[in-house]
Amino acid sequence: MQQTNPRVADASRSSIPLFPDIALGEVLPLDEHNATLVSNLHPRDWKNPEPAPRYNLVVLGAGTAGLVTAAGAAGLGAKVALVEHHLLGGDCLNVGCVPSKCVISSSRLVGDSRKAAAFGVRFPGGTEVDFPAVMARMRRLRAHISHHDSVQRFQHELGVDVFLGTGRFTGPNTVEVGGKALNFTRAVLATGARATHPAVPGLAEAGFLTNETVFSLTELPKRLAVLGGGPIGCELSQAFRRLGSEVTIIEMGAQFLSREDPDAAALLAETFRREGITVKLGTTLTSVTTSGTDKLLHLELGAQQEILTVDAILVGVGRAPNVEGLNLEAAQVQYSKTGVQVNDFLQTTNPLIYAAGDICMGYKFTHIADTTARIVIQNALFLGRKKVSALTVPWCTYTDPEIAHVGMYERDAEQKGIAVSTFTIPFSEVDRAITESEEEGFVKIHVKSGTDQILGATIVASHAGEMISEISVAMAGRVGLGRLANVVHPYPTQAEAIRKAGDAYNRTRLTPFVKKLFSRWLTWTR
Ligand SMILES: Cc1cc2nc3c(=O)[nH]c(=O)nc-3n(C[C@H](O)[C@H](O)[C@H](O)COP(=O)(O)OP(=O)(O)OC[C@H]3O[C@@H](n4cnc5c(N)ncnc54)[C@H](O)[C@@H]3O)c2cc1C
Repeated sequence: MQQTNPRVADASRSSIPLFPDIALGEVLPLDEHNATLVSNLHPRDWKNPEPAPRYNLVVLGAGTAGLVTAAGAAGLGAKVALVEHHLLGGDCLNVGCVPSKCVISSSRLVGDSRKAAAFGVRFPGGTEVDFPAVMARMRRLRAHISHHDSVQRFQHELGVDVFLGTGRFTGPNTVEVGGKALNFTRAVLATGARATHPAVPGLAEAGFLTNETVFSLTELPKRLAVLGGGPIGCELSQAFRRLGSEVTIIEMGAQFLSREDPDAAALLAETFRREGITVKLGTTLTSVTTSGTDKLLHLELGAQQEILTVDAILVGVGRAPNVEGLNLEAAQVQYSKTGVQVNDFLQTTNPLIYAAGDICMGYKFTHIADTTARIVIQNALFLGRKKVSALTVPWCTYTDPEIAHVGMYERDAEQKGIAVSTFTIPFSEVDRAITESEEEGFVKIHVKSGTDQILGATIVASHAGEMISEISVAMAGRVGLGRLANVVHPYPTQAEAIRKAGDAYNRTRLTPFVKKLFSRWLTWTR
């Protein structure tokens, strides 16, 4: 039992068979927006086409990786079949990036309104959150975006044969869906990943939310425990806190956002503390019991024990690859609990079958699903030799402030035995950040010592996700930090922090010897 919200539970008992083919958990409540979503992404009256005798490409899974592969390959003239057993668009559109960013954008307004008085702007009536309206807005925008990923668009505009149903291999070059055989020259596994939950006694019985059900809520949980302090846990904790929940994050590790730069995580920890989010680090959930509608979380913090009482539990502790039911053995594709095994060209152990996105990548991001799909099109269909290891990978956690990163952390460089020099510019030195009272973050750029080659960077800023691309472009285009200092940046912008880091690097080149030479030249030309 994963769904606990009373209104959602009521809806799931509804006798209206609006979406009979789909697990109801993801498309509740049954309103016009979700009806549009389902009619675009899994129309109930859809009739699968007659399969072609052979496809250039059969794509299993229609999340970002599958859609990009199918659309790109069909656009280049390939005969493509796309197989999806749930909603086209996958996690990103339905239960991931899109709904989370919609909810976060509402919660940002709450955060901004709380800072307003310091800017001389007052809301005498205070800020009131209409949670059902926040969620209705999210559903409306998600349904609006869903046209782009619709079954009709893929079949009729892009010329992809769309098969709704569960795909499974019946041999090294055949997939079966709904009793029909799809023969292929090449196939792509793009079946993604799903939320996992820890085997804690009582958790399943008490009921919990995951990303697959939390966006179906229509009522705000008053007290919310978030299990796991990763990016999903942190983003949703702050959003729910700002929308009015009392939020407690339970994290086993000593730092939340454990992969992130420690200074960035510390800064976010301080923001969370100020906003009234309780963070319990080094804490283990040992069991869950219930008392009426209350859920009692039994926690262990070292030798200390504690009980936390909440109305809902949101689990965000990890992702498991969707490898089950595909009959990968018949296709001679090897996999493990971390996903499908691929080489640097994204080829599986069956050379006819490639993989893209969450099913095979450690970086579980939509932009990586998109990028790996593009690599697969070239490698699978056009004898390409594009390598995943050549990618420069940025990402962003959409808290407020955002934490964006690209390339190596200091610890990665250390592990590889590469000496780095780090240039850090706090936003308290950047005019635009000062004018916007956003002085807390920083830009931190690592270069290979003795050179200006950028190895990695972390930015903590209100829109760090927008800023990190400048560094990604520089890294991908082999533009050094010294040269970035000579790129004209508009004034005043927060991106000037990057130029200032470049200036700081260039100052290190002004050694006493160079300075002496300059001084002599200037004396001579006076
Ligand atoms: C709450 C949340 C927020 C996120 N926010 C961001 C963000 O802001 N930015 C970002 O970059 N990433 C974000 N992500 C990650 C992002 O959603 C994923 O990395 C991305 O969706 C992966 O795409 P994919 O195509 O590999 O897999 P998926 O989107 O999981 O698609 C796989 C598809 O395959 C289908 N499928 C599985 N098995 C079969 C089968 N046997 N037959 C037919 N179909 C099958 C599934 O139904 C699914 O539709 C977020 C994730 C979550 C959970």
